Amino acid sequence: MGIMGSSFTFQPVLERIAAEIEKSPGRGRPADYIPALAARDPRRFGMAVAEPDGTVYGVGDWRQPFSAQSITKAFTLALTLAREADQLWEHVGREPSGNPFNSLVQLEYENGIPRNPFINAGALVVTDRLHSHTGDAVGTLLDFLRAESGNPGITPHEDVAASEAAHGDRNAALAHFMASYGNIGNPVPVLLEQYFRQCSIEASCADLALAGTFLARHGIRADGSRLLTRSQAKQVNAVMLTCGTYDAAGEFAYRVGLPGKSGVGGGIVAVVPGRCTLCVWSPGLDERGNSVAGVAALDRFTTLTGLSVF
Ligand code: GLU
Repeated sequence: MGIMGSSFTFQPVLERIAAEIEKSPGRGRPADYIPALAARDPRRFGMAVAEPDGTVYGVGDWRQPFSAQSITKAFTLALTLAREADQLWEHVGREPSGNPFNSLVQLEYENGIPRNPFINAGALVVTDRLHSHTGDAVGTLLDFLRAESGNPGITPHEDVAASEAAHGDRNAALAHFMASYGNIGNPVPVLLEQYFRQCSIEASCADLALAGTFLARHGIRADGSRLLTRSQAKQVNAVMLTCGTYDAAGEFAYRVGLPGKSGVGGGIVAVVPGRCTLCVWSPGLDERGNSVAGVAALDRFTTLTGLSVF
């Protein structure tokens, strides 16, 4: 029976990948821009796969909460796109930036319109707009993550949020700079508090794989209601593929062949449209900010299963 057969289970492939990762020597280094992340052990590894019906498979530390960081940007993009559709693209672009995630330079010659929703400037715009629509961007995001994962315990880590704020000069500069172009609607301190709390949300591989299944279900939520049109779900997946893994999206597409969104906490969410959503976590990062073991595990997953968008 082929991989799509009814008796198929992802469990053996996850166990094989975990055994291979266990033997691999290089793990990269945890993010060190705030102390709370630097303390993580790079040998931790977890991976989960969630199917559209909510079946979830996992291995290693797949139930261990970790700092979701920029993975949350895929969810705020979806929640904002659901509310304002194409109007969003007047405020943020959708092209890879070719610059580091927290770069300021491009913003000036592009008149305060960030290149895409996943560099920090673009994510700030998206969170600002979600906050304007809802009055509580982080609360809206938490409601969504909790409902989709079935885990009411998903929550921001207040120490991490405080530490982000204490080291947040560059994000503050980006927000003020965009505000000067009229591209931020809320007071900058309000936006920054929302953004730092958003980045500090802790969730496990199981939680985030389940929360991302709406992208494998072409926009349909766990309760059967529609968050995004089929085209919008395609758009979010496309932006993840082209911009979701910092300045290494080309290499990620080449190796893994799936839409993915990574975070400096060491997590990566990846989507096989129509089939499943994955989340992998290992805190050691490469020089571009992506989890070394995480990318390796996703690379092995698509090679072993033949599942990819290409
Ligand atoms: N919270 C970090 C920041 O905004 C980055 C998060 C990430 O890229 O995962 O600087």
